Amino acid sequence: MVSVMKKPDKIRKFDVVDFLGNGNFGFVFQAYDPLLKADRAIKLIKVPKPEKFVEAVKEAQTLEACRHKHIVDVKEVDVFVYEGTPCVYIAMEYLAKGSIQKHLESRFISIQDSLRIVSEALLGLEHAHNSNVLHRDIKPGNILFGDNGEAKLSDFGLALDYHVDPSDTMGYRPHQPLEVIEGNPMDKLSDVYAMGITLFRLINNIPEVEFNFTTVDEWHAAVKANKYPERCYQPHISRKIKTVINKAINNDPRKRFQSASEFRQALEKIGIPIDWRPIDDDSWVGTGINGESFELQKQRKRNGWIIEYKKNGRKVKENCYKELSDSQVGLEFFKIISSSNA
Ligand code: ATP
Repeated sequence: MVSVMKKPDKIRKFDVVDFLGNGNFGFVFQAYDPLLKADRAIKLIKVPKPEKFVEAVKEAQTLEACRHKHIVDVKEVDVFVYEGTPCVYIAMEYLAKGSIQKHLESRFISIQDSLRIVSEALLGLEHAHNSNVLHRDIKPGNILFGDNGEAKLSDFGLALDYHVDPSDTMGYRPHQPLEVIEGNPMDKLSDVYAMGITLFRLINNIPEVEFNFTTVDEWHAAVKANKYPERCYQPHISRKIKTVINKAINNDPRKRFQSASEFRQALEKIGIPIDWRPIDDDSWVGTGINGESFELQKQRKRNGWIIEYKKNGRKVKENCYKELSDSQVGLEFFKIISSSNA
């Protein structure tokens, strides 16, 4: 449910610039620190009862405990009374490029970009796990782009210390593994699963996963049958990449990567000699590791379809086809792309 909060003009010394959105526990504003002359993102959490204060500062303490270049940097935490309600505010570095979710909604994410984003987010996750912190809410909306395009894990609002026994199953339901739906507490391997689903969505360019189940049993059955999310991959994705993702999202936690670092190492072993992206339904372009340019185009001619493949503007005969039928053309077209990321 999206709730709104009137934008305060100031939060202590910070000038509030804009409302960015609201999450599970708080409202996030873009702000400016006039003393340090720096942009900030400020999460404002209403704390109507004093006993909730500890919970509210927990996210900031978690971020402080696991500072890392792939985790959003916390700057300060303090209290602020807004319209008579006591609040805790957490000032963080402001990441103007926004979340990966936002990019997923507006542009194509290539295989190379997907693998890089998730590998970097896994570095942050590995660090959090080594600091005894679970994230518990990994999804494209909670990975932000840093100023140089690097991935940063954010929103540790649901993070819990290992020592606390989580009896609830909060978090984003489409990213919850079978064992959590069955009532087991979240752990490192449920974070691995959620990161695996995140990669599955990035690589297949899936901005939204609907959650239309009316009962937990229905949801449980669909996840158990590997039907939620449906393990359906875009045709340009190679078998090698699918195998790695399917391992990260295996329903049996023992068959998953056993740590964020194991998952990351498997991703880093995948070479992507050509990074392809679509121009339209009939043509894709690629960039090679040494900057070579590739073009792949299909065209319907009188005798059937032709496929033309060019490297640095010159035709590569072995990868050109003619007189293909409607059913052959798509297969051959994507075979060329997927075999170059095998
Ligand atoms: P949920 O709590 O359900 O995960 P959410 O991810 O939208 O929801 P928040 O993480 O609280 O919630 O963020 C709210 C909005 O603020 C999002 O659009 C997010 O991209 C943006 N945001 C959060 N932190 C920053 C930041 N450090 N810099 C820039 N934008 C941010």
